[in-house]
Amino acid sequence: MHKSINNLLNVKNKLNVSKSSADKTVPKIIAVSKTFSIEKILPLLEHGHKDFGENKVQEAVEKWTKIKNKFQNINLHMLGKVQTNKVRFLLPLFDYLHSLDNFKLAEKISKEEVKKNKKLKIFIQINFDNEIQKSGITLSELEEFYKECTLNLNLNIIGLMCLPPVNRDPEIFFKKLKELANKIQLDELSMGMSNDFEEAARNGSTFLRIGSKIFGMRN
Ligand SMILES: *Cc1c(COP(=O)(O)O)cnc(C)c1O
Repeated sequence: MHKSINNLLNVKNKLNVSKSSADKTVPKIIAVSKTFSIEKILPLLEHGHKDFGENKVQEAVEKWTKIKNKFQNINLHMLGKVQTNKVRFLLPLFDYLHSLDNFKLAEKISKEEVKKNKKLKIFIQINFDNEIQKSGITLSELEEFYKECTLNLNLNIIGLMCLPPVNRDPEIFFKKLKELANKIQLDELSMGMSNDFEEAARNGSTFLRIGSKIFGMRN
């Protein structure tokens, strides 16, 4: 068995063990394939894995245009910062955007969605640490931003995403993200990476974004 498949099965196993039987939601696993070649991704595709994540539009276009022709029903997730001038390349290829973090980007996506007659499933990225230069919508901006996106721009906002501040206990932020999502009645939570996916799952994550635990270390 290929190493990456083995790694994926180990992650699934850990999730099953750490979830209590009362809580039935098993999060989806996004295999984060950024920096890895098509060759490295193929075993997982052939194994039948459907959800993959990238963080750069250009790199994704080069890799996934080919792959998506051959493998149907793949869900491609954009996780990284998106420049507005990349939206026209983003939309045809991707199914999910996890990193909506500003109004200009929201506007651009809205326009492009009308043009291309396609809608992304979108997460609003939350910035818990608003002093630091970091991507995301701050807590005080969230409700207004959410309203603008849904009511005025007609975006399909399905949930919230966060990258917890480094060197802090991630669990505090996972709990906060769930509270925020509940407040505006969003069901999906994109939280948890290689080093904290079990904590994220315990706190209601619905999409885990896992790279190195599946594909190995990146260069
Ligand atoms: C790279 C990346 C991940 C995956 O990181 P790992 O620590 O390798 O699991 C998850 N989310 C985002 C936004 C990323 O850029």
